[in-house]
Amino acid sequence: MPLTPDHLVEALRTVLDPDIRKDLVTLGMVKETRVEGARAAVTIELTTPACPMKDKIRGDIEAAISAKAAAIGAAYEGVDVTFTADVRRSNDRTREGANPLPGVRQVIAVGAGKGGVGKSTVAVNLAVALARMGAKTGLLDGDIYGPSAPTMLGLEDEATQARGNMLLPFEVHGIKAMTIGKLVDADKPLIWRGPMAHGAFKQLATQTEWGELDYLIIDLPPGTGDVPLTLSQLLPLSGAVIVCTPQQVAQDDARRAVKMFEQLGVPIIGVIENMSCFIDDTGREHDLFGKGGAEIMARTMGLDFLGALGIRTALRVNSDRGTPLANWNDARLGAELDIVARNVAARVSTLSYQGKYIQPTISVR
Ligand code: ADP
Repeated sequence: MPLTPDHLVEALRTVLDPDIRKDLVTLGMVKETRVEGARAAVTIELTTPACPMKDKIRGDIEAAISAKAAAIGAAYEGVDVTFTADVRRSNDRTREGANPLPGVRQVIAVGAGKGGVGKSTVAVNLAVALARMGAKTGLLDGDIYGPSAPTMLGLEDEATQARGNMLLPFEVHGIKAMTIGKLVDADKPLIWRGPMAHGAFKQLATQTEWGELDYLIIDLPPGTGDVPLTLSQLLPLSGAVIVCTPQQVAQDDARRAVKMFEQLGVPIIGVIENMSCFIDDTGREHDLFGKGGAEIMARTMGLDFLGALGIRTALRVNSDRGTPLANWNDARLGAELDIVARNVAARVSTLSYQGKYIQPTISVR
């Protein structure tokens, strides 16, 4: 019996999404099935172009269709698997009413217990990594006390532009970006009282013309202050990524940040260990801070671990030069950054499938 598109659908019913553990047909991921002679073709719509499981899904599809062809005795020469992606939309409601950014599908906050752990470095490279994988990505430098985006993205010579009362984001390195650092005198200290911090952050987030975005990455100020509170009330957050270095003291601060997001009702996407160990120019590893500390913290708190980044001269140099894309010139560094980005995207997809977008509520204990 020759293979038909219905046979392909039957075979795909046996292929599970590795994260969600439901089959591709039930999940509505099968967009097209075709048979031409003895060759099959299927188009699968993923929930992110950064899906870490693409190769596994492709292998499982090949095995399932090959088994189906053998079972019905069909002539079979293989299957062409095409992947497309449609990033899911998170909850449209926020505590304050309508979503002010309806064109943005997923809003991901990047936080840390304290400064200097590489939160901004992670936020910038996460945004650039997702964009390199094909996602429409924005970066909001929400660290209104110490904005790093002007340097890390090389915005020094870029002029700020507005249309009416909306700011136009900078379009650099494949992403859209906005930062308070381009709106104020770079050398003046940024002293904000609570309500001013609230207002400044709100304006940056909502008066920037982001357009349609798959992911908006928000680099938060370190610690537990006004901005995370404003953010959790203002935007429908997919969740927060916590950046932590391995030392015990960093873990203690990170725990407090985790608890703050939990109190705000913001799901924790997971933990990234930065400065995990020093990797010298020959590729040798040197353990400075106690590699694996942040991973242990994540596991003991029941949180996902999203990957580790070593201390690398290239990361620092490319941050100082404002050339994040150059991080991918080093294959190992590029691969580490891609793993982190894929893990974040996969976890956000899973959270949105599970409907974990609890309305942020504040419980003061
Ligand atoms: P935070 O946002 O947590 O204050 P930054 O991202 O600004 O931290 O990083 C602080 C400094 O450390 C910056 O100069 C940055 O280039 C550097 N840095 C961060 N992560 C790494 C890393 N993995 N390897 C090398 N330098 C790093």
